[in-house]
Amino acid sequence: MLNGKSLIEPEDFSLSEMDYLFSLAEKIEKDEKYLRESLRGKLLATLFFEPSTRTRLSFEAAMLRLGGSCLGFAEPGSSSAAKGESLADTIRMAASYADAIVMRNPKEGAALLASRYSTVPVINAGDGGHHHPTQTLTDLLTIKRLLGKIDNLTVGFCGDLKFGRTVHSLAKALARYPKIKLIFISPKELVLPEYIKSILKKQNTDFEESENFEKLMPELDVLYMTRVQRERFFNEDDYIRLKDTYVLNTEKMALGKEKMIVLHPLPRVNEISVEIDSDPRAAYFKQAKYGMYVRMALLASILGVSEC
Ligand code: ASP
Repeated sequence: MLNGKSLIEPEDFSLSEMDYLFSLAEKIEKDEKYLRESLRGKLLATLFFEPSTRTRLSFEAAMLRLGGSCLGFAEPGSSSAAKGESLADTIRMAASYADAIVMRNPKEGAALLASRYSTVPVINAGDGGHHHPTQTLTDLLTIKRLLGKIDNLTVGFCGDLKFGRTVHSLAKALARYPKIKLIFISPKELVLPEYIKSILKKQNTDFEESENFEKLMPELDVLYMTRVQRERFFNEDDYIRLKDTYVLNTEKMALGKEKMIVLHPLPRVNEISVEIDSDPRAAYFKQAKYGMYVRMALLASILGVSEC
């Protein structure tokens, strides 16, 4: 179904293609042996020009669990990028060695550019403050598995909505589902970029922006917390001033619905107090595990496993 396709932005896949991935991920989760060894002989290049823990490790775990192999680098200093090689040339090379490329790069648009030079599928594992579509697949699968649906929900995003690429991708993706209300909670300096808001407006998505966490918390079915993205700030003083604007603690959790879930793309810095980890509504570690299953489903599909 997705054989040979690249994934650069969340909209690259239709809702039915995403549904298909979610059901495949569920099958893999329920049956450890399902699709095992199906990618034997296939190679995945993981090119990380920016730090990563979950995305890189879960892609590598996914590929290895499917019987394939991985090659690549975890930081640009160990690649020829450090000698001044262009992204286009690095991609041409990786495409000649591997069957698919997963890439994270600090520049917005880098994944799209890579897909133009690549002869194999490219998966965007984060391009600057722009998009992170496989985190979106992870987030949607988590919502579906834990709440049983991806419609008729009020989803609150809190923290750095300006630079948080996972927020941009997930907000755009949720806007494609029926009866979704989005609430964006952030300090004024870190509001959602205009280009995302104009997409939401064009789609008639119900959304509001606020600085008042406590007032909106009782409405939420999903609370999506985010870290203030230090690496995207021009000025360290601004980061220090804004980093602890919202900290989720037990008092704030007490205002939330009993069935609400708390998601976070991780890494967490200080914005979720560790005392919340034992609250049954804290779903961020489960979410990270769903990330591996959905990446297994994705790799199996784009590399054309016959069952897919
Ligand atoms: N891991 C996510 C990302 O790469 C979230 C974050 O870094 O805050 O965008």
